[in-house]
Amino acid sequence: MKTSLPSPDGLNCAAIAFGSNLGDRVANIEAALSKMREQNLRVTKLSALYETKPMYYDDQDPFLNGVCQVETSLEPLPLLDRLQSIENELGRKRIIDKGPRTIDLDIVLYNQDHIKHPRLHIPHISMLERDFVLRPLAEILPNQHLPSDFIPNGSNRTISQFLQSLPEKDTTMSPVTVLHPDLPLIRVRDATRKTHVMAILNLTPDSFSDGGEHTDLKMVRASVAKFITAGATIIDIGGQSTRPRADFLGPEEELARVLPVVRAIREMNGADKVAISIDTFHSDVARETILAGADIINDVSAGLLDERMLSTVAELGKTVVLMHMRGDPHTMTQLTAYPDGVVHGVARELSARLQAALDAGIPPWRIILDPGLGFAKNQAQNLELLRSLRQLRESTDYSSLLQNYPWLMGPSRKGFVGKITGVAEASQRGYGTAAAVTASIEGGADVVRIHDVSEMMQVTKMADAIYRRP
Ligand code: AMP
Repeated sequence: MKTSLPSPDGLNCAAIAFGSNLGDRVANIEAALSKMREQNLRVTKLSALYETKPMYYDDQDPFLNGVCQVETSLEPLPLLDRLQSIENELGRKRIIDKGPRTIDLDIVLYNQDHIKHPRLHIPHISMLERDFVLRPLAEILPNQHLPSDFIPNGSNRTISQFLQSLPEKDTTMSPVTVLHPDLPLIRVRDATRKTHVMAILNLTPDSFSDGGEHTDLKMVRASVAKFITAGATIIDIGGQSTRPRADFLGPEEELARVLPVVRAIREMNGADKVAISIDTFHSDVARETILAGADIINDVSAGLLDERMLSTVAELGKTVVLMHMRGDPHTMTQLTAYPDGVVHGVARELSARLQAALDAGIPPWRIILDPGLGFAKNQAQNLELLRSLRQLRESTDYSSLLQNYPWLMGPSRKGFVGKITGVAEASQRGYGTAAAVTASIEGGADVVRIHDVSEMMQVTKMADAIYRRP
């Protein structure tokens, strides 16, 4: 990981903190980042987005805060001018000092410079008392030192060490993830959060568990209405079966199945706040369905089966589920060797896909991880993953921070559930699935992907009541 300022290619390297607590906070921050990119500020690192309690002036809504590193040819004052013009373009109004704002952009560091100017103090004068600056900064520049004459007693601590020694920590602070603009953000470090239920809407005639149920739009609408009434917040639409040895469709045929359904849901009364997820590994399907109103791309290959997938999701600014698997649905059942154990293997390989998604420009707050139960895993490995989700979530051995991301678990009606319970008929595997959903929630899953929505909603509510306590 590059941690040095200034940048190796001779440009200046600045760390910029951003925050918003008015209007659509994520949209404000994403708009600021695109304007920065358009105006030749090259964003080279981006932290998670943290929801934080307001400091200084309490009577205002929570903030979203993060930090990015940019490379720029601009000197400090022109950089400040540019950031202030972006704040103004995004409608920033200064009503109360340290009060509500649509967007705030501060220069926290600029190379190793120490600047004292009437308009500009760098390092930012309050950064060392602000958890909401230090935590995201420690994520992208953990080993960075501050200019030696900035700290009065000459302390030579790193950003991580300053964060560790911060006297007052915001214990409610959590990285967040976006599902849909009108749904609450997932707060991954919040022990009281509710598990989201992702309802599976299969459009495949050959699905292993409920194929052929949704052959016309009337049936689709009826199912979606039932899912929403039961409490599902995400509808996952699949036009291509990914069960072992399934036949592959081309993107055109998949799109022909999926696109009318996305449009129909977006036109339904009462479905405007549900997130639409598309289960696909084709970037063309991702693009067209996003343009028609989909919010999430659920890619079982985490971008491996279509090299344009991650850049497409990044360009269109939506959320992606990165699932761990190996090979493809034709070859995956043979690929189950994990010499260091399945938890380490999944953590390592999924970290690499996470890094690829970040490198493609997908922001951390738009990524969900899935260990891929039943994909390139045998029965013992599926059980191990269910038993050890917490260990996987808390993994710190990899450069990308798995613990900042939400986890989706998809045990529903899978083969290993059928084998253990002795239930051959997939649609009858509800009780076995219920146990796996409970284990997933105990392990810290944020989203469960299921077929039997009203039944598993009860299981999820019960498991949340047991495990997600204040
Ligand atoms: P704020 O309301 O937090 O955006 O503060 C904006 C004011 O702080 C502007 O008048 C800036 O000139 C001044 N300022 C001083 N140092 C910095 C810095 N490092 N980054 C951004 N603004 C700064």
